[in-house]
Amino acid sequence: MNFSHLCELLWTVYDEQDSILQPMWDHLRLYHSDTIRSPLFPVVLTVSSYFIICLPYLVCDIMGDRWPAVQRFKIQPSKKPTPAMLVHCAGVTLRNHLVLVFPAAVAQWAWRPPVPLPDRAPTLLELAGGVAGNLLLFDLQYFIWHFLHHKIRWLYVTFHAIHHNYMAPFALATQCLGGWELVTVGFWTTLNPVLLRCHLLTTWVFMVVHVYVSVEDHCGYDFPWSTSRLMPFGFYGGPSQHDVHHQKPNTNFAPHFSHWDKLFGTHADLAF
Ligand SMILES: [Zn+2]
Ligand SMILES: [Zn+2]
Repeated sequence: MNFSHLCELLWTVYDEQDSILQPMWDHLRLYHSDTIRSPLFPVVLTVSSYFIICLPYLVCDIMGDRWPAVQRFKIQPSKKPTPAMLVHCAGVTLRNHLVLVFPAAVAQWAWRPPVPLPDRAPTLLELAGGVAGNLLLFDLQYFIWHFLHHKIRWLYVTFHAIHHNYMAPFALATQCLGGWELVTVGFWTTLNPVLLRCHLLTTWVFMVVHVYVSVEDHCGYDFPWSTSRLMPFGFYGGPSQHDVHHQKPNTNFAPHFSHWDKLFGTHADLAF
């Protein structure tokens, strides 16, 4: 048997294997098809995961110095968000969703043709590959957007300055964004899984993972389980890298990974 026959055989075995996710996908398809086809579903999924993921960090912020074991992981220990800052960010997030995100989802509901639900669930490999591909693509898109919105003063003042209200970020500051930035980010996170031909399940997992890593970027803590500590070779920037961006805004434009900033000479570590 030569190499191409071996590849063909392996692919056949892999391809015919039933995904471990198949029973769950069959259940969703058969009993909840209207819910999972709805354009409101990804909105509800991302908004609810945002607040759920923010919650533990919010509790850490509120407990502050009463939890010294947690506070020793704070990246800027002398900077604590005040109640007014937390209320301001939650208000901006709610306003953006009421004014922009929900109307866009409802409009999509009216105009978009029904979403087809494939028979097959993705394999775990397809799912992990799809999530990684989406994160890498988003990282490049946002790097370019972010770089331009810092280098062109009009773009910065008009659209991005609101996100730099706080030099010491905290979880709820993640979505303290202007409308244009939110629309751009929402556009890419919706379009990219379609471009990469991802399964709906992969798309939803990517959306939740993306919310998680975005909140983690802003949480203000560098915990031992930070994504940047779990990934090898300093490939992933995470909270310490994005915290530096809020302190020193002409560095670390990529939201998640570190390769683009290293390539373009804009990378900076915590101890600058
Ligand atoms: Zn930020
Ligand atoms: Zn910025």
